Amino acid sequence: MIIVMKKDSTEKEIQEVSNVLISLGLGVHVSEGKERTIIGVIGDKRVLNDVPLELMSGVEKLVPIMESYKLASKTFKPEPSIIDVNGVRIGGKELVIMAGPCAVENREQILEAATKIKKTGAQFLRGGAFKPRTSPYAFQGLEEEGLKLLKEAKEATGLQIISEVTSERAVEIADKYVDVFQIGARNVQNFQLLKEVGRSKKPVLFKRGPSTTIDEWLNAAEYIISEGNYNVILCERGIRTFETATRNTLDISAVPVVKNTSHLPIFVDPSHAAGKAKYVPSLSMAAIAAGADGLIIEVHPNPKCALSDAAQQLTPESFDSLCKDISKIAPIIGREFHYAG
Ligand code: PEP
Ligand code: MN
Repeated sequence: MIIVMKKDSTEKEIQEVSNVLISLGLGVHVSEGKERTIIGVIGDKRVLNDVPLELMSGVEKLVPIMESYKLASKTFKPEPSIIDVNGVRIGGKELVIMAGPCAVENREQILEAATKIKKTGAQFLRGGAFKPRTSPYAFQGLEEEGLKLLKEAKEATGLQIISEVTSERAVEIADKYVDVFQIGARNVQNFQLLKEVGRSKKPVLFKRGPSTTIDEWLNAAEYIISEGNYNVILCERGIRTFETATRNTLDISAVPVVKNTSHLPIFVDPSHAAGKAKYVPSLSMAAIAAGADGLIIEVHPNPKCALSDAAQQLTPESFDSLCKDISKIAPIIGREFHYAG
C-alpha cells in the first residue's frame, strides 16, 4: 500500500505518519516526488485495521499496490528514477554507455580498452573480474587483481567502473574498487546475494535472467530495494528461446514494458543477447529507439584473442562508429549522447 500525502504536507506530518507505521512494525519507504511525497508501506497490513491513517493530518489518500513487487513499481514512485554515479546521471535525458571487455585479462588489455573507450564519449568501463563461466575449466577471472587494474584504468581515464559480483565475498572485495556492482543473469534469483547488495548503498546494474519473466525480475529487484538500496538499474540481456541464430533472443519489448510498470532505469546489453559482434550495432540502435536509458557493450582491443566471449566483442573501431551513430539517433527520440571522437 502507498500513502499519498497532500501537496502541501509538512515534514512533521510525514514524520508523524512514518512513526505510526514504524511503531506497528511496518517497513516505511518514503519517496519524495516533484509534486508530493508518497510513503510506501511494506508488511502485514492487518495491523492497520483499527488505525484511521486517512484521517491523519497531511494524508490525502491510501492506495493499494496491485503488483506483487511494490517499491520497484510506478505506483510507489510515478516519476522515473535518476541514479547519480559520481555525476553521471543514469535514467536522465543523456544516454549512458558502458563498454569494455568481457573479462579483465591483463594490464595492457584493460588500459588499451579504457583509453579507446574514453575517446568515444562512453562514460563507464566494464570488465569482469569474477567470471561466472559455464565450464569450471574456463578462465574464471583475475578477481581482486582484475579490480585493481580496473581502478588503475579509472585513474588514467576518468571512466566510472562497473564489474560483476558473484558472491557475498566478491561484494565485500569489489566494494573497494567499483562504482557500480553488476549482478549477472545467472544470479538473478540468488536472493542472499541480492540482499547483500541491497544492504550496500552502491548502485547495482541488475541483469534479467535468461528464463525469468519481467514480473519475476522486478520481484527480484524488490529484494535489493527492500533492503534500502534504491539505486537499481535493470538490464535486459536476452532470454532463452527456441531460436539458435543468436546466442539469446533480445526481448526488446522488455524496455517499454519496464518503462510502463517501473520507475527504474533500464539498460540493454546487446552483446550477450546477440552472441555475435556483427549483430551488436543493430540491436544497440533498436534498444535506444525503444527507449533504453543506456547500453552495456563488450569491447576488446583484440576480440579474436579474448579469453571469454570472443565472438561477441566489438573492436574499438566498430564501437567508435556505433557511438557516432547513437549520437545521431539520440536527438530524434529526445535523448542526448555526446560522441567525443
Ligand atoms: C557479462 O556481462 O560478462 C555476463 C556474464 O553477462 P550475463 O550475466 O548477462 O550472461
Ligand atoms: Mn561476457
